[in-house]
Amino acid sequence: MSIWGTTKEGVAVPIYTLKSAQIEVRVMAYGAKLVSIRTPDRSGKVADVVLGYDTLEGYLNDNSTYFGGIVGRYGNRIALGKFSIDGATYHIPINNGANTLHGGPIGFDRYVWDAKEIPNGVEFTHVSPDGDMGYPGALTAKVKYTLAGNTLRLDYSASTDKATVVNLTNHAYFNLRGDDQGTILDEVLELNADRYTPVDGGLIPTGVLAPVAGTPFDFRKPEVVGARIESDSEQMKLGGGYDHNFVLNGNAGTLRLAAVMTSPESGRRLTVETTEPGIQFYSGNFLDGTFTGRHGVKYEMRTGFCLETQHFPDSPNQPNFPSTVLRPGVTRHSTTTFAFSTVKAE
Ligand code: BGC
Repeated sequence: MSIWGTTKEGVAVPIYTLKSAQIEVRVMAYGAKLVSIRTPDRSGKVADVVLGYDTLEGYLNDNSTYFGGIVGRYGNRIALGKFSIDGATYHIPINNGANTLHGGPIGFDRYVWDAKEIPNGVEFTHVSPDGDMGYPGALTAKVKYTLAGNTLRLDYSASTDKATVVNLTNHAYFNLRGDDQGTILDEVLELNADRYTPVDGGLIPTGVLAPVAGTPFDFRKPEVVGARIESDSEQMKLGGGYDHNFVLNGNAGTLRLAAVMTSPESGRRLTVETTEPGIQFYSGNFLDGTFTGRHGVKYEMRTGFCLETQHFPDSPNQPNFPSTVLRPGVTRHSTTTFAFSTVKAE
C-alpha cells in the first residue's frame, strides 16, 4: 500500500498493488477503482489493458467516464430518477438527460472507500447514509478485489437498514491491445446471451427481452466488435453503437460464463464470469478525446469497451426484470471474475 494522493477535501487515498506470476493489478480507495491491469500479450510483452490516468488528479478531474470505478448505489439508468418501493415514491437527482445514471450526480465512484488488506487482495467498504442521493436506507457496500493466478475476482456485498434498490458493478474500460492502442473495433466478442434488452432514446429498456438472433446484437458466436456497429439497426443508432444490457443465459446466482473478448492482434483474451443476471456491453461510444490518459493519449471514441456485470437497467421500474430491491436483514452477494489468457495467432 502507498498513499497515491489526497482528494480536494484533503482525504488521503491509498493505492494497492496485487501481483501474481503473470499479472499486476492496481486498485485505489477513491471510488474503489481498478486503476491498472498489466498483462502479457502472446509474445510476453506487457501492457496495461484498462484505460486510466497516471495520477489521482486525473480521476478527480474526470466526472463522466467512470474509468475503473465501482458505480452505485444503482449502476446504469433509472428512468426519470424515480421509483417506488412498497408504495413510497423516491426521487433521485437526474444527471443523464431526463434520467439518473450510475447512482446520481454523486455516486459511489466519488467517495474514498475504507480499505483493508486481505489475503491476495483488498476489501473496500462504503457506507451510504439513509437519504443519500434520495435513496432510502443506510446501505453498506463492500467490494473485495482478489487476484489468484490469471483471475481477478470481485466479490460484492450490500446490506441496508430500510428497503432500497441496489445495483453495483465495476466500470473498467478494457483495450486488450493496450490502453494507448486506439480503438477496440477489431476485438472479437462472444456473449453468453440469447436475449438483450432494447432501449428507447434515453437508453431506458423498453421492458422487452428481445432475441438477439438475426440482429447485430448476436454474439453467441465470436464476432468482430466493429463488424456491425455502423449498421442501420434502430437499436444501434439509439445506443450510438453498443450500449445495451444482455440477458445472460443460465441461472443468475451461479457463477457462469458471461463474455469472452479476444484481441486477434495481441492474442490477449479476457473471460468474464458472473453471478449477475445481465451484462452491459458498452463500446465506449461517448469517449470523445476530452480526457487525456496514461502515456498522454487522448481517449477517443471506442478506444475502450466495458463489460459491466449487473442487474438490468431501470429494474426498479420494470416489474418483469429480476428485482433489485434489497430489504433489511438480507445481505446481497454477487461475484464477477475477469480472467486473462492468451491465444495463438490464427
Ligand atoms: C452507460 C453509458 C454511459 C457510460 C458512462 C455506461 O454504463 O451504459 O451509456 O455513457 O456508462 O461512461
